[in-house]
Amino acid sequence: MNKSPVWFEYSMAVHVHSRYSDGSGTVSAILRDAQANHVDILMLTDHDTRQGAQDPGEGYFGRTLLLVGAEITPPQNHLLVMFADKLANPEERWAEIVSQVSSLGGLSFVAHPNDRGNPTLRLPSYRWSERETRGFTGVEIWNHFSHWSDGVKGIASGLRSLWNPVRGLDHPRPEDLQLWDQLAQESLAIGKPGAIGIGGVDAHAAPVGWRQLSFKVFPYRVSFRTIRTQVYLTEPLTRDLDRDRELIKDALGSGRCAVMAYHVGSEKGFRLWAETPEKSWAMGARVTWTERLRLKATSPVPTTWRLLRNGNLVATASGHLLDQALGAPGVYRVELLRGPRKLGWLYPNPIYVVGI
Ligand SMILES: [Zn+2]
Ligand SMILES: [Zn+2]
Repeated sequence: MNKSPVWFEYSMAVHVHSRYSDGSGTVSAILRDAQANHVDILMLTDHDTRQGAQDPGEGYFGRTLLLVGAEITPPQNHLLVMFADKLANPEERWAEIVSQVSSLGGLSFVAHPNDRGNPTLRLPSYRWSERETRGFTGVEIWNHFSHWSDGVKGIASGLRSLWNPVRGLDHPRPEDLQLWDQLAQESLAIGKPGAIGIGGVDAHAAPVGWRQLSFKVFPYRVSFRTIRTQVYLTEPLTRDLDRDRELIKDALGSGRCAVMAYHVGSEKGFRLWAETPEKSWAMGARVTWTERLRLKATSPVPTTWRLLRNGNLVATASGHLLDQALGAPGVYRVELLRGPRKLGWLYPNPIYVVGI
């Protein structure tokens, strides 16, 4: 019996800075680039401000829905905040910031948790250091700008990286995946959420000058073709702002989302679920283990599948389908790789299989 869920998939560009903080673009210019690059939902996240919610305001601009979150930026430990109408003060204790967001009904994601900084680009490291604190919704498991800057180690590699905006981005950083897996196992053990993985572009389009030359690293349109967050909604967007905010928040908050390397492929149509002969559960769900439980997934294009349990590879497959009996409880997630070089394409959120 085919229990493939009926979902409506939309592509989000998350973690974008405008002139309201240290980005170089106006929100309307960014929206134009977003529309031209098939961004269905643009999540603006200026540093410690939601000015974009006043001007131009959340809503539809052509095909693109603008939502306004923020990046709360204490000196360390940046936090992406969405769906909260009031912002926490970055000078508060970090645990307090996290708990304020959740009491305001917002979602929060640890930004670029394993950021390394970059001496060549004179960027300090904004690594997440509050490793004992919990209470956030999840973590940015792939951040375009932070990961891209790892490849800039001097003039020669810097030029190569400027030329190729996805240089070195064949897969997410191993330490980011490890952190995601660790948080997910913890979440399974304590029965609380807190491990939802998203991907961000961290676009600033900051101008960089060298002699007579001046260029932007990277123009928004280039950033929009890198790391996306796909959301899988239970019904299509309605163009009613309040309703659509709820649908998107529900998908992100319950883990019905996947990180997509848009430069590797942009096709929609992925599905992941667990099923027994009687019932099925969506990605992100908690399921009680039985020996009849199977994990199924379909891809719109043939891929190489990797199935991981608690961060360890347990099966591989190739083609459009994955169908695997789940022999034991644990956190199960899949990775979809593409092409002869097996580039990382899609990193969907896991299914949590609880022991009896
Ligand atoms: Zn940041
Ligand atoms: Zn940022």
